Amino acid sequence: METDRSKKLYRLAKRVMVGGVSSPVRSFSAVKGEPLFIKRGYGSKVYDVDGNEFIDYVLSWGPLILGHSNRKVLNSIIKRIRMGTSFGAPSEAELLLAEEICSSIPSIERLRFVNSGTEATMSAIRLARAHTSRNKILKFEGCYHGHADYFLAKAGSGLATYGVLASEGVPEDVVANTIVARYNSIADVEDAFSRFGTQLAAVIIEPVAGNMGVVPPRPGFLEKIRKLCTLNDTVLIFDEVITGFRVSKGGAQSLYNVKPDITCLGKIIGGGFPVGAFGGKKEIMQRLAPEGKVYQAGTLSGNPVAMTAGIATLSMLKARDYRYLEEISSLLETEILAAAESKRIPLTVNRVGSMLGIFFTEDQVYNFQTVAKSKLNLFPSFHRTSLENGVYLPPSPFESIFLSTAHSYEDVQRTAVAFKKAFGDLH
Ligand SMILES: *Cc1c(COP(=O)(O)O)cnc(C)c1O
Repeated sequence: METDRSKKLYRLAKRVMVGGVSSPVRSFSAVKGEPLFIKRGYGSKVYDVDGNEFIDYVLSWGPLILGHSNRKVLNSIIKRIRMGTSFGAPSEAELLLAEEICSSIPSIERLRFVNSGTEATMSAIRLARAHTSRNKILKFEGCYHGHADYFLAKAGSGLATYGVLASEGVPEDVVANTIVARYNSIADVEDAFSRFGTQLAAVIIEPVAGNMGVVPPRPGFLEKIRKLCTLNDTVLIFDEVITGFRVSKGGAQSLYNVKPDITCLGKIIGGGFPVGAFGGKKEIMQRLAPEGKVYQAGTLSGNPVAMTAGIATLSMLKARDYRYLEEISSLLETEILAAAESKRIPLTVNRVGSMLGIFFTEDQVYNFQTVAKSKLNLFPSFHRTSLENGVYLPPSPFESIFLSTAHSYEDVQRTAVAFKKAFGDLH
């Protein structure tokens, strides 16, 4: 595979941009490679600056559920852009997208638009703290909620523990209010509530974890958290930035039938533009300015172009699209397992709808500890051979593989052939 142009651009980018990238995982450092500079995307494919074609399973890290350059989405955006790009005043597009979201996710009675998932989770925590007059929050190891200071904590030793710093530059007293528990551990959650219950402002969780590979909740886990939050007047926040409109039109909360108090959204609702949103119970959301005294604002929030891309995307997602995504993703799962078996590679696939995580182990993978025990060191080689055979996987074993409605059966078959080679190369 010829990648001279990408190599040259990367060299130049590193001279003016930190690490040559705008977000660290894009650097390919987790797969010991160099990033490709992507020029174009159509349907399920992306093309780099050297003209190589790849079947894309990153999809801009999840947003592009209809694939690249969807014609209806593009047409709406182009029409919208011709009328101006930003006003800093209310627009009808915000109203339409808000209506679409509220009718798809009934637990959202009121919402606010922001510019990223990070802003959504950050503002949801501020709101929960104001609502409860408490400071502590509980999160789960391996879940990602953006890069606000108090989320950059990892678990210490023992059960549910006070967070340990996961980044330089974060004050210890900020992370001191973050309690970290193991995903899928009811014992940890009970322990956290028995120790801190009346001090916990919020529990925040990815209802399907998508940032440590894909890890679904075990039966009863979300239900137990819901129950303890209700008992302790703790706000339950579902971070559905990935799962919202991905695993079903109503998100993971509809799939598992557990209602949070606040939901955070991003990715798909922006149709490929920078958007986030948080929303939930009216009596909590009303604490937000201008109705209440919790401050939150944004110059470009509710940007009409981004809102238009979101409306176009959501309005095209019908029940049959989710059925198709289920079918094609289930086929990919079967093909991956068959390819691994044919090369005698121990493998576990976790899948919820069109989100897949592959782990080099035969054991069940149900939390961060079990993810860490899988053979993560095999991933870089697997990634490289897949790429050389035309399959663009997320350049990190901790990220989800995504499919879009533009992925075809033929794409999946071609992917299976590439994977077979990649598994073979592992020996
Ligand atoms: C991507 C992501 C975020 C952060 O969203 P950004 O738009 O990157 O700030 C938050 N939570 C989850 C679950 C995510 O996957």
